[in-house]
Amino acid sequence: PFHTGDTQAAPCCPISLILSESAEAYMSNYPDLQLYIGGAWRKTADTLPVVNPVDESLIGALPVATERDLDDALSAAADGLKVWSRAAPARRAEIIRRAAALMRERIEEIALDITCEHGKPLTQARLEVIRGCEFFEWDAGEAQRLYGRVIPSEPGIRYVVHHQPIGTVAAFSPWNFPMSQPSRKVAGALAAGCSIILKAAEETPAGALHIARAFHDAGLPAGVLNLVFGVPARISEYLIPQDQVRLIAFTGSTAVGKHLAGLAARHIKPVLMELGGHAPVIVCDDADAHQAGIVSAVRKARNAGQVCTSPTRFFVHERSFDTFTASFVERARSVKIGDGLDAATEMGPLANHRRIEAMEGLVADAVSAGARLLAGGERIGNRGYFFPVTVLANVPDTARIMREEPFGPLAVINPVASLDEAIAKANSVPFGLAAYAFTNAAANADRLTDEIEAGNLSINTLEASVAETPFGGVKESGYGREGGAEGITHYTVVKNVSHRMA
Ligand code: NAD
Repeated sequence: PFHTGDTQAAPCCPISLILSESAEAYMSNYPDLQLYIGGAWRKTADTLPVVNPVDESLIGALPVATERDLDDALSAAADGLKVWSRAAPARRAEIIRRAAALMRERIEEIALDITCEHGKPLTQARLEVIRGCEFFEWDAGEAQRLYGRVIPSEPGIRYVVHHQPIGTVAAFSPWNFPMSQPSRKVAGALAAGCSIILKAAEETPAGALHIARAFHDAGLPAGVLNLVFGVPARISEYLIPQDQVRLIAFTGSTAVGKHLAGLAARHIKPVLMELGGHAPVIVCDDADAHQAGIVSAVRKARNAGQVCTSPTRFFVHERSFDTFTASFVERARSVKIGDGLDAATEMGPLANHRRIEAMEGLVADAVSAGARLLAGGERIGNRGYFFPVTVLANVPDTARIMREEPFGPLAVINPVASLDEAIAKANSVPFGLAAYAFTNAAANADRLTDEIEAGNLSINTLEASVAETPFGGVKESGYGREGGAEGITHYTVVKNVSHRMA
């Protein structure tokens, strides 16, 4: 076991990778990437490479949209809006459910493509597809629950509040969940009766492509959903100022979110911002520290830590610190890393080289600030973006990782003397997306519920959101909610009608 005051412990033994021989066969099935505009597929003159993060091999050519393509998408979305906003909610729900059913049928194909472009294990890619379908199925139901209300009035006049589709949505989805991230936005927009232009992540385009394919096959009217790819800044700067675009929905880093929110503010447009997180995990002394350590290490490895809700800053009561840390480190060192196509793999590579650089920088900075490196810490090999689950303990507050989201498989474990101290540390960063705690004491749970600054608090579970609960952040983690009963409301405008009767 490790002790709170230990000097530097040796990182783990050399890590061997699981590499699959069948990779090449799968790569040849990767889809022919195209834009989807006005119900038709289109190629572009310019393309960008899509690579497999396992071996950095080229797997696809991303079409790069021109201004002409974006103009076509805008005009298609205007036509789509006219039809879709007037479609009966039951009809909208039926098409959304049909598309989700098709994606469930195509789960193996979609999951394979996600694994090839992103690197995550196939089992996690399959779960992502199911999760994406759940978002669609949930919002299909919400389409039929967009209730207005009648406000009591004096005789002869009637006040009625309606929720109407906001209009055309410009949505930007990131690369960490190629299918379920865009699902959230497409589901909300389509359920509410909006049309949408989705700019999906350039590095992981296939997930969004499969969504467009499923809606096309499900009979969605042309122009309601348009999918574009290309240079993100060019697309956002072109679309956001357009009169027709009435909502900007973005998931990604806080830095880009601030930029896009600024652009939107210049045109007084609402935004739905799901940004970075730096999730704290408070482990109270009444919890099972051994079990908490194991499940935390497993969760840290999910999606190679590239999740905005990934548990990162562990504040463990000093009486439980050694047990928790020992279990976490042991499980972290045993995580099987390799090609996501191999059934034994628990954690794939990071999605791109930028993440490797970020991990190396944060580890070096923390160690030089005095942190103990207890597991991982170095890139594995020099081909493919592999980086192990890395545990840093007793990390000083001055280290960058205490305020910067790692967005990778890095965990910080620090001892705390009390719940007061844990809550203060948890709240000490500008982020407030997900937060977690392990405790069996009702009084602790009540305090955490009242005092933790986060949009999502999970106690004795490391699951932060499901389709039926609202998900989103406070502070610099963003605003607005996706999912739950709240999500669809962002895609609507409230109209009050005062009607004096003759
Ligand atoms: P990044 O900030 O450059 O890009 C993040 C996402 O924003 C990408 O999908 C990108 O296509 C998009 N983007 C970038 N500039 C844009 C612009 N001007 N207009 C529209 N979209 C734009 O960084 P990155 O290296 O791709 O990702 C690193 C950071 O992003 C991570 O540290 C993490 O904080 C954040 N991130 C968050 C999530 C999330 O789920 N909240 C997902 C992916 C990335």
